[in-house]
Amino acid sequence: MSADPTDGLQRAAERLCQARRVVVFTGAGMSAESGIPTFRDPGGLWERFRPEELATPEAFERDPDRVWAWYQERRRLMEAAPPNAGHLALAAMEPYFDEFTVITQNIDRLHQRAGSRRVLELHGTILANHCHYCGLPYEEELLPEKTAPICPACGGRVRPSVVWFGELLPEAVFTEAEHSIENCDVLLAVGTSGEVYPAAGLVRQAKLFGVTVVEINPKPTELTTVADIVVRESAARALPALLQLLRQYRQAGACSQ
Ligand code: NAD
Ligand code: ZN
Repeated sequence: MSADPTDGLQRAAERLCQARRVVVFTGAGMSAESGIPTFRDPGGLWERFRPEELATPEAFERDPDRVWAWYQERRRLMEAAPPNAGHLALAAMEPYFDEFTVITQNIDRLHQRAGSRRVLELHGTILANHCHYCGLPYEEELLPEKTAPICPACGGRVRPSVVWFGELLPEAVFTEAEHSIENCDVLLAVGTSGEVYPAAGLVRQAKLFGVTVVEINPKPTELTTVADIVVRESAARALPALLQLLRQYRQAGACSQ
Protein backbone atom coordinates (compact mmCIF):
# COMPACT_ATOMS: atom_id res chain seq x y z
CA MET A 1 0.00 0.00 0.00
CA SER A 2 1.39 3.39 -0.98
CA ALA A 3 2.29 5.88 1.75
CA ASP A 4 1.90 8.80 -0.66
CA PRO A 5 -1.41 10.55 0.16
CA THR A 6 -1.81 11.76 -3.45
CA ASP A 7 -1.81 8.20 -4.71
CA GLY A 8 -4.49 7.15 -2.18
CA LEU A 9 -6.57 10.22 -3.00
CA GLN A 10 -6.50 9.48 -6.71
CA ARG A 11 -7.51 5.88 -6.22
CA ALA A 12 -10.30 6.94 -3.83
CA ALA A 13 -11.59 9.55 -6.32
CA GLU A 14 -11.57 7.02 -9.16
CA ARG A 15 -13.55 4.59 -7.07
CA LEU A 16 -16.00 7.32 -5.93
CA CYS A 17 -16.47 8.28 -9.55
CA GLN A 18 -18.10 4.90 -10.20
CA ALA A 19 -20.14 4.84 -6.98
CA ARG A 20 -23.83 5.61 -6.54
CA ARG A 21 -24.16 5.03 -2.82
CA VAL A 22 -21.61 6.30 -0.35
CA VAL A 23 -21.30 6.06 3.42
CA VAL A 24 -18.92 8.21 5.43
CA PHE A 25 -18.13 6.86 8.88
CA THR A 26 -16.58 9.52 11.11
CA GLY A 27 -14.89 9.68 14.51
CA ALA A 28 -13.34 12.29 16.75
CA GLY A 29 -10.47 13.00 14.29
CA MET A 30 -13.04 14.48 11.89
CA SER A 31 -13.51 17.41 14.28
CA ALA A 32 -9.91 17.73 15.51
CA GLU A 33 -9.24 20.57 13.06
CA SER A 34 -12.31 22.37 14.39
CA GLY A 35 -10.45 22.58 17.71
CA ILE A 36 -12.22 19.71 19.49
CA PRO A 37 -9.78 17.28 21.11
CA THR A 38 -10.03 13.57 20.24
CA PHE A 39 -10.16 10.88 22.90
CA ARG A 40 -7.13 8.74 22.31
CA ASP A 41 -4.49 10.92 20.66
CA PRO A 42 -1.68 12.47 22.74
CA GLY A 43 -3.22 15.48 24.49
CA GLY A 44 -6.64 13.85 24.00
CA LEU A 45 -9.39 13.84 26.58
CA TRP A 46 -8.72 10.43 28.11
CA GLU A 47 -5.18 11.44 28.97
CA ARG A 48 -6.55 13.96 31.43
CA PHE A 49 -9.73 12.17 32.58
CA ARG A 50 -10.58 8.56 33.27
CA PRO A 51 -13.60 7.51 31.19
CA GLU A 52 -15.09 5.48 34.02
CA GLU A 53 -15.09 8.61 36.17
CA LEU A 54 -17.09 10.67 33.73
CA ALA A 55 -18.65 8.89 30.79
CA THR A 56 -20.61 6.07 32.42
CA PRO A 57 -24.10 5.80 33.93
CA GLU A 58 -22.53 4.77 37.25
CA ALA A 59 -20.43 7.96 37.34
CA PHE A 60 -23.52 10.07 36.75
CA GLU A 61 -25.54 8.23 39.38
CA ARG A 62 -22.69 8.70 41.88
CA ASP A 63 -21.96 12.37 41.20
CA PRO A 64 -24.37 13.91 38.66
CA ASP A 65 -23.09 17.46 39.19
CA ARG A 66 -19.47 16.56 38.41
CA VAL A 67 -20.43 14.78 35.19
CA TRP A 68 -22.85 17.55 34.24
CA ALA A 69 -20.24 20.29 34.78
CA TRP A 70 -17.70 18.42 32.61
CA TYR A 71 -20.23 18.05 29.81
CA GLN A 72 -21.24 21.71 30.08
CA GLU A 73 -17.64 22.66 29.43
CA ARG A 74 -17.47 20.36 26.41
CA ARG A 75 -20.82 21.67 25.18
CA ARG A 76 -19.50 25.25 25.25
CA LEU A 77 -16.41 24.16 23.30
CA MET A 78 -18.45 22.28 20.69
CA GLU A 79 -21.01 25.06 20.24
CA ALA A 80 -18.21 27.56 19.60
CA ALA A 81 -16.32 25.27 17.19
CA PRO A 82 -16.83 25.90 13.47
CA PRO A 83 -17.24 23.04 10.98
CA ASN A 84 -13.87 22.58 9.22
CA ALA A 85 -13.03 22.25 5.52
CA GLY A 86 -13.52 18.47 5.80
CA HIS A 87 -17.11 18.76 7.08
CA LEU A 88 -17.85 21.30 4.34
CA ALA A 89 -16.36 19.10 1.60
CA LEU A 90 -18.55 16.18 2.69
CA ALA A 91 -21.66 18.34 2.50
CA ALA A 92 -20.62 19.53 -0.97
CA MET A 93 -20.09 15.93 -2.17
CA GLU A 94 -23.60 14.83 -1.27
CA PRO A 95 -25.38 15.89 -4.52
CA TYR A 96 -23.00 13.78 -6.64
CA PHE A 97 -24.49 10.53 -5.39
CA ASP A 98 -27.88 8.81 -5.29
CA GLU A 99 -27.43 8.13 -1.59
CA PHE A 100 -24.95 9.78 0.74
CA THR A 101 -25.07 8.92 4.43
CA VAL A 102 -22.85 10.19 7.19
CA ILE A 103 -22.65 7.82 10.15
CA THR A 104 -20.91 9.60 12.98
CA GLN A 105 -19.64 8.68 16.42
CA ASN A 106 -19.29 12.39 17.13
CA ILE A 107 -21.68 14.21 19.39
CA ASP A 108 -20.85 17.75 18.20
CA ARG A 109 -23.43 18.21 15.38
CA LEU A 110 -20.75 19.70 13.09
CA HIS A 111 -21.81 17.60 10.08
CA GLN A 112 -25.32 19.03 10.25
CA ARG A 113 -23.99 22.55 10.75
CA ALA A 114 -21.83 22.12 7.63
CA GLY A 115 -24.93 21.18 5.64
CA SER A 116 -24.92 17.35 5.49
CA ARG A 117 -28.53 16.26 5.32
CA ARG A 118 -28.49 12.58 6.19
CA VAL A 119 -26.53 12.14 9.41
CA LEU A 120 -26.90 9.14 11.71
CA GLU A 121 -25.65 9.90 15.22
CA LEU A 122 -24.54 6.60 16.74
CA HIS A 123 -23.53 8.14 20.07
CA GLY A 124 -26.25 10.76 20.43
CA THR A 125 -25.59 14.48 20.73
CA ILE A 126 -24.27 16.80 23.40
CA LEU A 127 -26.69 19.49 22.25
CA ALA A 128 -29.73 17.77 23.76
CA ASN A 129 -30.58 16.58 27.26
CA HIS A 130 -33.03 14.20 28.88
CA CYS A 131 -33.91 12.76 32.28
CA HIS A 132 -31.59 9.87 33.15
CA TYR A 133 -34.44 8.14 34.98
CA CYS A 134 -37.69 8.63 33.04
CA GLY A 135 -36.24 9.68 29.67
CA LEU A 136 -38.25 12.90 29.34
CA PRO A 137 -36.50 15.35 26.97
CA TYR A 138 -35.33 18.48 28.77
CA GLU A 139 -35.57 21.49 26.49
CA GLU A 140 -34.87 24.51 28.69
CA GLU A 141 -32.75 27.13 26.95
CA LEU A 142 -30.87 28.24 30.02
CA LEU A 143 -28.80 25.45 31.48
CA PRO A 144 -26.95 25.56 34.78
CA GLU A 145 -23.17 25.22 34.49
CA LYS A 146 -22.39 23.26 37.63
CA THR A 147 -25.47 21.30 38.66
CA ALA A 148 -27.50 18.73 36.74
CA PRO A 149 -31.07 20.05 36.35
CA ILE A 150 -33.99 18.34 38.10
CA CYS A 151 -36.55 16.58 35.90
CA PRO A 152 -39.98 18.28 36.21
CA ALA A 153 -41.75 14.93 35.75
CA CYS A 154 -40.00 12.58 38.18
CA GLY A 155 -37.52 14.65 40.18
CA GLY A 156 -34.59 12.67 38.75
CA ARG A 157 -31.49 14.34 37.34
CA VAL A 158 -31.12 15.49 33.77
CA ARG A 159 -28.15 14.34 31.62
CA PRO A 160 -26.72 15.04 28.18
CA SER A 161 -28.21 12.89 25.41
CA VAL A 162 -24.98 11.10 24.60
CA VAL A 163 -24.30 7.36 24.74
CA TRP A 164 -22.00 6.46 27.63
CA PHE A 165 -19.67 3.49 28.01
CA GLY A 166 -21.74 0.46 28.96
CA GLU A 167 -24.93 1.83 27.39
CA LEU A 168 -26.74 0.53 24.33
CA LEU A 169 -26.59 2.42 21.06
CA PRO A 170 -29.94 3.81 19.83
CA GLU A 171 -31.38 0.73 18.13
CA ALA A 172 -33.24 2.37 15.25
CA VAL A 173 -30.21 4.49 14.33
CA PHE A 174 -27.89 1.48 14.43
CA THR A 175 -30.23 -0.58 12.25
CA GLU A 176 -30.40 2.25 9.72
CA ALA A 177 -26.62 2.52 9.77
CA GLU A 178 -26.28 -1.22 9.11
CA HIS A 179 -28.73 -0.94 6.24
CA SER A 180 -26.80 1.95 4.66
CA ILE A 181 -23.53 0.05 5.01
CA GLU A 182 -24.89 -3.12 3.45
CA ASN A 183 -26.18 -1.16 0.49
CA CYS A 184 -23.30 1.17 -0.28
CA ASP A 185 -20.51 0.96 -2.86
CA VAL A 186 -17.83 2.92 -1.01
CA LEU A 187 -17.25 3.63 2.66
CA LEU A 188 -14.94 6.44 3.78
CA ALA A 189 -13.73 5.89 7.35
CA VAL A 190 -12.51 9.29 8.55
CA GLY A 191 -10.71 10.13 11.79
CA THR A 192 -11.69 7.09 13.79
CA SER A 193 -9.42 4.80 15.78
CA GLY A 194 -11.80 1.89 15.20
CA GLU A 195 -11.49 0.89 18.83
CA VAL A 196 -15.00 1.66 20.04
CA TYR A 197 -17.51 -1.15 19.52
CA PRO A 198 -20.12 -1.84 18.23
CA ALA A 199 -19.61 1.24 16.02
CA ALA A 200 -16.26 0.05 14.65
CA GLY A 201 -17.84 -3.30 13.76
CA LEU A 202 -19.80 -1.50 11.04
CA VAL A 203 -16.65 -0.93 9.01
CA ARG A 204 -15.68 -4.59 9.28
CA GLN A 205 -19.22 -5.51 8.29
CA ALA A 206 -18.88 -3.36 5.14
CA LYS A 207 -16.00 -5.56 4.00
CA LEU A 208 -18.20 -8.65 4.20
CA PHE A 209 -20.62 -6.96 1.80
CA GLY A 210 -17.89 -6.22 -0.74
CA VAL A 211 -17.83 -2.48 -0.07
CA THR A 212 -14.61 -0.61 -0.96
CA VAL A 213 -13.25 0.81 2.29
CA VAL A 214 -11.14 3.99 2.22
CA GLU A 215 -9.39 5.05 5.41
CA ILE A 216 -8.59 8.74 5.87
CA ASN A 217 -6.41 9.20 8.94
CA PRO A 218 -2.91 10.61 9.48
CA LYS A 219 -2.04 7.50 11.52
CA PRO A 220 -2.52 3.74 11.16
CA THR A 221 -5.48 2.34 13.12
CA GLU A 222 -7.27 -0.90 13.92
CA LEU A 223 -9.12 -0.43 10.62
CA THR A 224 -6.05 -0.08 8.41
CA THR A 225 -5.89 -3.81 7.73
CA VAL A 226 -9.47 -3.87 6.42
CA ALA A 227 -9.01 -0.78 4.22
CA ASP A 228 -8.65 -1.18 0.44
CA ILE A 229 -7.31 2.34 0.03
CA VAL A 230 -5.48 4.39 2.66
CA VAL A 231 -5.05 8.17 2.67
CA ARG A 232 -2.52 9.23 5.33
CA GLU A 233 -3.72 12.78 5.64
CA SER A 234 -5.92 14.84 7.95
CA ALA A 235 -9.66 15.17 7.32
CA ALA A 236 -9.57 18.92 6.60
CA ARG A 237 -6.86 18.40 3.97
CA ALA A 238 -7.89 15.09 2.42
CA LEU A 239 -11.63 15.68 1.95
CA PRO A 240 -11.44 19.00 0.04
CA ALA A 241 -8.71 17.43 -2.15
CA LEU A 242 -10.96 14.43 -2.79
CA LEU A 243 -13.89 16.71 -3.68
CA GLN A 244 -11.71 18.62 -6.11
CA LEU A 245 -10.52 15.44 -7.84
CA LEU A 246 -14.07 14.15 -8.05
CA ARG A 247 -15.21 17.39 -9.70
CA GLN A 248 -12.33 17.23 -12.17
CA TYR A 249 -13.07 13.63 -13.13
CA ARG A 250 -16.75 14.36 -13.58
CA GLN A 251 -16.11 17.45 -15.68
CA ALA A 252 -13.76 15.40 -17.83
CA GLY A 253 -16.53 12.83 -18.33
CA ALA A 254 -14.40 10.16 -16.69
CA CYS A 255 -17.16 8.97 -14.32
CA SER A 256 -19.71 6.31 -15.16
CA GLN A 257 -22.77 8.52 -14.57
P1 NAD B 1 -10.50 8.35 18.96
O1 NAD B 1 -10.10 9.50 19.81
O2 NAD B 1 -10.44 6.99 19.52
O3 NAD B 1 -9.59 8.37 17.64
C1 NAD B 1 -9.36 9.53 16.92
C2 NAD B 1 -8.73 9.14 15.59
O4 NAD B 1 -8.65 10.32 14.79
C3 NAD B 1 -7.30 8.59 15.67
O5 NAD B 1 -7.20 7.42 14.88
C4 NAD B 1 -6.44 9.71 15.08
O6 NAD B 1 -5.28 9.24 14.40
C5 NAD B 1 -7.40 10.37 14.15
N1 NAD B 1 -7.13 11.78 13.88
C6 NAD B 1 -6.57 12.72 14.70
N2 NAD B 1 -6.54 13.91 14.09
C7 NAD B 1 -7.09 13.74 12.86
C8 NAD B 1 -7.36 14.60 11.76
N3 NAD B 1 -7.05 15.90 11.82
N4 NAD B 1 -7.96 14.08 10.65
C9 NAD B 1 -8.28 12.77 10.59
N5 NAD B 1 -8.04 11.90 11.60
C10 NAD B 1 -7.46 12.38 12.71
O7 NAD B 1 -11.96 8.66 18.44
P2 NAD B 1 -13.15 7.74 17.89
O8 NAD B 1 -12.62 6.65 17.03
O9 NAD B 1 -14.16 8.66 17.37
O10 NAD B 1 -13.79 7.03 19.16
C11 NAD B 1 -14.02 7.54 20.41
C12 NAD B 1 -15.32 8.17 20.85
O11 NAD B 1 -15.01 9.54 20.96
C13 NAD B 1 -16.55 8.19 20.04
O12 NAD B 1 -17.48 7.47 20.73
C14 NAD B 1 -17.03 9.67 20.05
O13 NAD B 1 -18.36 9.75 20.51
C15 NAD B 1 -16.16 10.33 21.03
N6 NAD B 1 -15.69 11.71 20.80
C16 NAD B 1 -16.39 12.61 20.06
C17 NAD B 1 -15.89 13.90 19.85
C18 NAD B 1 -16.70 14.85 19.02
O14 NAD B 1 -17.93 14.76 19.00
N7 NAD B 1 -16.06 15.76 18.32
C19 NAD B 1 -14.66 14.26 20.39
C20 NAD B 1 -13.97 13.32 21.17
C21 NAD B 1 -14.49 12.04 21.35
ZN1 ZN C 1 -37.65 12.22 34.88
